[in-house]
Amino acid sequence: MKKLISVVVPAFNEEDVIELFHRRMGEIFDRLPQYRCEMIFVNDGSSDRTQQIVDSLAERDERVCVITLSRNFGKEAAMTAGLDMAEGDAVAIFDVDLQDPPELLPEFVAKWEAGYDVVYAKRTHRQGESWLKKATAAAFYRLMKKISKVAIPADTGDCRLMSRRVVQALGQLREHHRFMKGLFAWVGYPSVAVEYLRDPRAAGSTKFNYWKLWNFALEGITSFTIAPLKIATYVGSFFAVGAFVMGAWIILKTLIWGDVARGYPTLIVTVLFLGGIQLFFIGILGEYIGRIFGETKNRPLYVIDRYLPARIGLSAKDNLIHPLQGM
Ligand code: UDP
Ligand code: MG
Repeated sequence: MKKLISVVVPAFNEEDVIELFHRRMGEIFDRLPQYRCEMIFVNDGSSDRTQQIVDSLAERDERVCVITLSRNFGKEAAMTAGLDMAEGDAVAIFDVDLQDPPELLPEFVAKWEAGYDVVYAKRTHRQGESWLKKATAAAFYRLMKKISKVAIPADTGDCRLMSRRVVQALGQLREHHRFMKGLFAWVGYPSVAVEYLRDPRAAGSTKFNYWKLWNFALEGITSFTIAPLKIATYVGSFFAVGAFVMGAWIILKTLIWGDVARGYPTLIVTVLFLGGIQLFFIGILGEYIGRIFGETKNRPLYVIDRYLPARIGLSAKDNLIHPLQGM
């Protein structure tokens, strides 16, 4: 029996590119005849013709699997749904907009066969992205590297291939605030990078604006390090010591020179400054508490509306009806 390779493809309002992606990925599949390959499209609650397009692809092509989520859950949840359902011996993740060139797949597979559990795509250049996005991304990776214990490789997206045991390990991480790049890194296992040029989007437009990216960065930081809380402790201690010294000095001054009511500016500046610092760190506390709140509800990460397994994947099990069909 040939090994199965599953390619998970999250798609949210991508009617313009899906067919193009399918054609290009299909050609790559043809170049890997020694494997069975399937494409798992995860329709993340699209409101355009994405569903019709993937359905018609599945009808024509036995290598296409379709998972439809009940609404838009976000890319991280969509990827998780795909990874949970994928049964491949190796599972890859590709964006549908062709920014991760499908041509990477054979390289991934070769590295995987050579013994690596994780093969991830590392971009050497980002084309078609503004300097601001590049600069903020670079700053974010630098910061993450400094403050978190798990080494998250820089300039790496979600595009990667993972062996079955990595997918299984990843499947055990059910946290709601999913910073996938961090989760991938947390799992560990022998990993290797494949360098590539990141293409601009083939068609359609990006689903991530700066506000979303900022929140994404916050997610990354808060789910992988409590450094900001520690900073609060140190900044707080610093000011407490400062206040003590200053207090002692004021008492001494009053004892020596008597009590002259001066220093209003010092007072107001100190009060405002400390008030600001306190609010800032209460905000940080809030970020963490909010996340604790999110996790304690323990809701499922996504809800599946429809599941249509790839026929090629089923043939492996003598055409057994998939247990999740129609869920
Ligand atoms: N995506 C998704 N759900 C969302 C947003 C995006 O499944 O809520 C998918 C999208 O269809 C694409 C991938 O995630 O396949 C990356 O999105 P996009 O290209 O918009 O992000 P960028 O490359 O600009 O970071
Ligand atoms: Mg993109």
